[in-house]
Amino acid sequence: GRVELTGLIESVLRRLEPVARTGGVELRRHLPEGEVLVPGDEDQLRQVITNLVENAIKYGGAGGPVEVGLVTPDEIAGLRGPGARITVRDHGPGIDRVHIPRLTERFYRIDSHRSREMGGTGLGLAIVKHIVNRHRGRMRVESEPGQGAEFIVELPLRT
Ligand code: ATP
Ligand code: MG
Repeated sequence: GRVELTGLIESVLRRLEPVARTGGVELRRHLPEGEVLVPGDEDQLRQVITNLVENAIKYGGAGGPVEVGLVTPDEIAGLRGPGARITVRDHGPGIDRVHIPRLTERFYRIDSHRSREMGGTGLGLAIVKHIVNRHRGRMRVESEPGQGAEFIVELPLRT
């Protein structure tokens, strides 16, 4: 089927609003006016956005707003053709580069004070990676320790 990402992101953010508010975290949107359709499975893509935003609130939310963006570049490296790029950015402690290659392993959690005290299974990003791969997309992480983390998911617009 086809999934409309602008509305899907908005509905995920609305559902996570109480969680964010409890944590004192502002959820900011940088979304296009119109619809963005990608081939895919709506429940799975909802899971991707939810897991990334939950992480940003949980691990990065204390440092400032969580910002969720959506753009549709004409060309995305490695996807051959136009794509949708979803970004989830926080302003928390960030992720040391030594951990980045292992983040999507099942049960991998950075042994930081925050991860230990917050609970979780370490499956969220493994699921994200699996779903993104099934959609022939890409995921990457950019982080400057102390400046927050950005998770970038790119999905092809065409099958
Ligand atoms: P689950 O998602 O299964 O409840 P989890 O959040 O620990 O558990 P993942 O979502 O896979 O598991 O994340 C793995 C680890 O990566 C986390 O435990 C945390 O240490 C780190 N991490 C994830 N997102 C961020 C982020 N935005 N900032 C800093 N660290 C992060
Ligand atoms: Mg998680």
